[in-house]
Amino acid sequence: MIVWLCPLDVSTYAARGREVDPPRVSCPRCGGPTGPWSGYLRHLRDGEPLLRIFVPRVRCRHCGRTDALLPWFVSPYRWDTVDVIGQALERSAAGEGVRRIAVALGRPETTVREWCRRFGVVAVDLARALLAAAVAAGWSGFELPVAPGPRAVAAVAALASAWTRRRGPVPAWRLAALVTGGAWLAPNTTSPLAPQPASALMARTSRTTPGGDPWRATPPKPLPSGATT
Ligand SMILES: [Zn+2]
Repeated sequence: MIVWLCPLDVSTYAARGREVDPPRVSCPRCGGPTGPWSGYLRHLRDGEPLLRIFVPRVRCRHCGRTDALLPWFVSPYRWDTVDVIGQALERSAAGEGVRRIAVALGRPETTVREWCRRFGVVAVDLARALLAAAVAAGWSGFELPVAPGPRAVAAVAALASAWTRRRGPVPAWRLAALVTGGAWLAPNTTSPLAPQPASALMARTSRTTPGGDPWRATPPKPLPSGATT
């Protein structure tokens, strides 16, 4: 799985069908060149209606590894966009109850509860990884909450503010998904966010295609975890 910085909005991406024009990427395992390797359709819930989007796959020409190319607003194994999930987590970190959040966002209570539960599992590691990336990007710290959930939410904002100063506004939760290679809320691993050098995290977002649009950053490598598809 490779998360990439998709310049399209969600509805435009969905409307393109298979013509989503993902970037050329190198193999996360061996660095070799990759080529198109089919893809699959999946659901994505943003507003209404429920969308069906195409997720292209690539295959490494050297080692044969295949990876799905997920646009940064998609979270692996979850129907909802990272923006919607992020809103829920912000509300939860601010003390709002699951039932109220579910009503406000128009999502099932069980779904919101599962996001919050999972966020509780990853919050400490997520905050550490994102703050390291934010510092590497020039963020100078202020006092952060100590509780893991609010701290991770603050880390998402800190990283986004560092990015914004350099490159302009960015959807904060998509950026978190990008720098963590989609592992930010992975459902099926206990420790998807192993600590690693901040420079490695920021390197994922700092290169652009030659002569290209700065929004077409080189896609990040996924973190070493069991969460790859
Ligand atoms: Zn390879």
